Amino acid sequence: MSINQESYKKLVAEFGEKITLVAVSKTKPVEEILALYKMGQLDFGENYVQEMLAKAAQLPRNIRWHFIGHLQTNKVKAIAPFVHLIQGVDRLKLLKEIDKEAAKNKKVLDVLLQVHIAREETKFGMNEEELDDVMISRFPNVRICGFMGMASLTDDMQIVRKEFQHLKTLFDKYAQPNPLTGRQISAHELETLSMGMSSDYKIAIEEGSNMVRIGSLIFGERG
Ligand SMILES: *Cc1c(COP(=O)(O)O)cnc(C)c1O
Repeated sequence: MSINQESYKKLVAEFGEKITLVAVSKTKPVEEILALYKMGQLDFGENYVQEMLAKAAQLPRNIRWHFIGHLQTNKVKAIAPFVHLIQGVDRLKLLKEIDKEAAKNKKVLDVLLQVHIAREETKFGMNEEELDDVMISRFPNVRICGFMGMASLTDDMQIVRKEFQHLKTLFDKYAQPNPLTGRQISAHELETLSMGMSSDYKIAIEEGSNMVRIGSLIFGERG
């Protein structure tokens, strides 16, 4: 197997500068990541800590590693020194741990909160109540840069679209000042809305995404 260069070039041309393409390289070998890196790709997404550590150790230092999986609290320490963006922060306890480890590393870590928008119970993410709590809290060593969401696994694209619209509505609610008071309702400045994968990125972008996470379209299907 090798990377699909044509498909990658098309995606890059399609997205331009306003949309960040995160190449999801989970399960793929370092040779393929390096091949894509040589085509100019810097943002890569992984969802297992051990795998990301092993790959980062072998690959160029200026790669921006996005952690996109479900992160266990006790694994934060391992990625804190080098991770670029932790997507999918789905609970307050994890946020507190990231804050603690970031402080130890004398840095501020960028994160996205994962919001539960799908119909499936199995998908991780915060509900609106939890979001409300987190968004008024401050964490000295964490920068909450935006939200991440995954739509339901369904062929019904109307459902997918509705779920993305829902996430965009929530994003706008916190990103923009309250129209009545002119005051920001959150303690954070949101700029990144990470939604869309190989099967649904077009809809996601139509609905306001500015970061997409694409694996199989670039690297081929995973075994
Ligand atoms: C695997 C994965 C992707 C990429 O999925 P593709 O369908 O291969 O594009 C995106 N986001 C997350 C969170 C993933 O785990």
